[in-house]
Amino acid sequence: MPTHNADIAAIFTEIADLLEIEQANPFRIRAYRNAARNLGEMGREVRALVERGEDLTQLPGIGADLAAKLGEIVATGKCRTLEKLHTELPPTITDLLHVPGLGPKRVRTLWHDLDIQTAEQLARAAQDGRIRGLPGFGAKTEANILQAVAAQLATARRIKLATAAQYAESLVAWLGGARGVERVEVAGSYRRCRETVGDLDILAVAAADSDVMARLKAYDEVGKVLALGPTRASVVLKSGLQVDLRVVAAAAYGAALCYFTGSKAHNIALRRMAQERGLKLNEYGVFRGKERIAGDSEAAVYRSFDLPWIPPELREDRGEIAAARAGRLPKLVEPSDLRGDLHAHTKATDGHHTLEEMARAAKALGHAYLAITEHSRRLAMAHGLDPRRLAEQCDAIDRLNASLDGIVLLKGIEVDILDDGSLDLPDSSLARLDLVIGAVHSRFDLSRAKQTERILRAMDHPYFTLLAHPTGRLIETRAPYDVDMLRIIRHAKQRGCYLELNAHPERLDLLDTHCLMAKEEGVLVAINSDAHSRDDLANLRFGVGQARRGWLAAADVLNTRPLPELRRLLAQVRG
Ligand SMILES: [Zn+2]
Ligand SMILES: [Zn+2]
Repeated sequence: MPTHNADIAAIFTEIADLLEIEQANPFRIRAYRNAARNLGEMGREVRALVERGEDLTQLPGIGADLAAKLGEIVATGKCRTLEKLHTELPPTITDLLHVPGLGPKRVRTLWHDLDIQTAEQLARAAQDGRIRGLPGFGAKTEANILQAVAAQLATARRIKLATAAQYAESLVAWLGGARGVERVEVAGSYRRCRETVGDLDILAVAAADSDVMARLKAYDEVGKVLALGPTRASVVLKSGLQVDLRVVAAAAYGAALCYFTGSKAHNIALRRMAQERGLKLNEYGVFRGKERIAGDSEAAVYRSFDLPWIPPELREDRGEIAAARAGRLPKLVEPSDLRGDLHAHTKATDGHHTLEEMARAAKALGHAYLAITEHSRRLAMAHGLDPRRLAEQCDAIDRLNASLDGIVLLKGIEVDILDDGSLDLPDSSLARLDLVIGAVHSRFDLSRAKQTERILRAMDHPYFTLLAHPTGRLIETRAPYDVDMLRIIRHAKQRGCYLELNAHPERLDLLDTHCLMAKEEGVLVAINSDAHSRDDLANLRFGVGQARRGWLAAADVLNTRPLPELRRLLAQVRG
């Protein structure tokens, strides 16, 4: 059965959660958590590595024991360690860990003393006032739990785009193999490259005798079939992700694709336009009276409103229709426009591969340059570099560049912006570098005014080149810190430095709206992988998706420049 990195990561996370509730050895728990995180970030499928017989202990955070488990999960879809834990603890109990305020110890007590195993049971027990009497709880905690669990039950689950891509790509390939299928495509927010996806909307064109529906039903990853008809089906994958498949006629494909891609706001704007012209637009086509005047392609649908085709990433009703009308749609940046990557880590800090391994992997992706930007000393947890180790790395890069062919490593640093806005390394260290990326990794709680001032002051440093992950958010885990982004962008313009769009699947930061702001203010954005291993370098494509949502063209992106021009742009920041 096809097992994706996200599936394996979910198994490891569940094992860690259950071990934590069992109060197992913390080192063992951490090993599972680290492995899960690394797998979630990896740009390559472990399944493929196993099939090729590669040595899995070369992967970040994977020792012999976990490597054997990876092999087992890829081969069987299961993990005996997890099954054993399930005989000791109810499988739903890990849901409780996701209720804010509940750690493993409290979850254990709730289960042990009140036999609470699900969020629903938890909500009921809190309502009935049965929790306040437990050791370590109380009326206030009970009220907080009730509020948190109610909020959790109310919000639908969304998954990160990079995770959705793993499920979507193999499912599309599987459906494409059905008899009589002419095309298969994922529509919805996935096609618009939203940072999270609620479900997958898949469209297909297929011959009348196609077995595409049977093939969907037979897909290994399908956990539950909700509905299955001749032209539409809904299933829930074992991962919990819902998939809706619709088979449409070729003559209506473009209209259906447009309709199911959305967004809702964009579609409403299109329908209003249709009405104004005495036309009708729906998922089957554009109609004048009973006559279908367009429908087979999206381009034809837009053409019937005298508009050029609008890329899906722009369809948010943020001015794209007016821009299309005026002939001012940007030619959006493409993955192939990127000539290199300006943010990566190695083994010297918290990365997992050597300089040379990273360089070769970047070259294999077609990059002409890769900047090595380790953490600085303040991030002790990540073994951040002090001046001596940074100098050693610079020497190593110089030596390596002399022998490398077709790829150049740039010397950089991801230097911590300290609380007062100064940088974590002395000028004497920074002077030798090709670029200095400044990053906030601490004190996320500062007030808007103080956080903004801190960053502006850092940007004023003569060696500051680029602001890393400008809002610090982690998708669905950590809210962005409170900053005045427009002021930061305007300051970058004045100062002549750049902003990063961090393509890490959990970050995608700058946000799309900030990209548009940067473009309007004339500040170049670097789309960087922030790779901690070779495989992460491929994550750039998710950053490109976000950049496209932010209207960026190749010219708006710093690392679309060939090396000589890039060097000039980096040097010019220092005046
Ligand atoms: Zn960082
Ligand atoms: Zn980094």
